[in-house]
Amino acid sequence: MEPGRKSSPGFAEQCRQLTEARAEFAWLRAGSVVVQQQSLRDFAQAMANFVAGTHGRPGFRKRGKHEGFRIIAVKATDIRRLSRNVGEVRIPKAGWIRFRWSRPVPDGVKSFRVTRDRAGRWFIAFAAIPQPIAAPRTGEVAGVDRGVTVSAALSTGELLIVPALRDSEKARLLRLVRKLARAMRRSKRRCAVKAAIARLKARETDRRKDWVEKTSTQLAQRFDVIGVENLKIRNMTRSARGTKDAPGKNVRQKAGLNRAVLAAGWGGLVTLLEHKAPGRVVKVDPAFTSRRCSACGIVDRRARESQAVFRCRSCGFTGNADVNATRNIRDIAAGHAVNARGGDRDAGPVNREPRLVPPLA
Ligand SMILES: [Zn+2]
Repeated sequence: MEPGRKSSPGFAEQCRQLTEARAEFAWLRAGSVVVQQQSLRDFAQAMANFVAGTHGRPGFRKRGKHEGFRIIAVKATDIRRLSRNVGEVRIPKAGWIRFRWSRPVPDGVKSFRVTRDRAGRWFIAFAAIPQPIAAPRTGEVAGVDRGVTVSAALSTGELLIVPALRDSEKARLLRLVRKLARAMRRSKRRCAVKAAIARLKARETDRRKDWVEKTSTQLAQRFDVIGVENLKIRNMTRSARGTKDAPGKNVRQKAGLNRAVLAAGWGGLVTLLEHKAPGRVVKVDPAFTSRRCSACGIVDRRARESQAVFRCRSCGFTGNADVNATRNIRDIAAGHAVNARGGDRDAGPVNREPRLVPPLA
């Protein structure tokens, strides 16, 4: 803390201030005190997480961007189903609100969150801890890595790409962005253009989230152990800019939207994988994974012919550079998994103790 600065008020003090502020401001009074207190509690938790070092610093909320609230201490009688597709939930100050019953509401649900995205769509999410996905018990290990031009490469040779906007949609987005730049501030037209942009971007986000969910589920179902690069010690050899030895192509193109989409897909994929396959994701040191030949094991910094092609000058192995890297990741991950069972744990840093499920006899 800076000298001379008082410490910020804690949760109890903030609640007292809230009561005062509600007495003074009608607009604040119009809102639910339960919701307002809950956001103070969430903020206290966020600060505690930040101080503990497990999470980043909580940021400010922006109108139109981070709209939503959380309701806790939900009773079973607060939720009811009206028909196959329609449910209703009791929300303080708002009464019974209908929602689309898109999936089963978990038993004994204690809280839910209502959000509104930038495209103006409302969502309700009931909090539940999902069951992890069972391992296939085949003993199969996969290496997964973020590729240069693909979202994820698999050691099986599969290249996975996050569905982005189609070319026609990208062109429309570009037109809208230009239109926005010309629109007068606070004009009706500006609002309309902004909403249209938000809808297009929401479409992109929806596709990415869908891809991340499906891909992470499939990986967790197909493989016992999944090796990924440990991003904390990630080297930059696979950035779009490339290295001195292997300069990237289409740098400008990759530097923009494209790369952001790929990156967002990849980050989400690893996070969800760890949730869905706890203890089965092995994070490996990425050193040399892109420059080692997965066939003969020789580290050759000039084997990377281009961003896309790996050609070993020692054994002649030629293949997709991303896939070559994932095979190295797979082999390291397999080594870690075996070592975790066998005893020798000098294979390098791992965040989580890997657990290799033995195949069924
Ligand atoms: Zn080789």
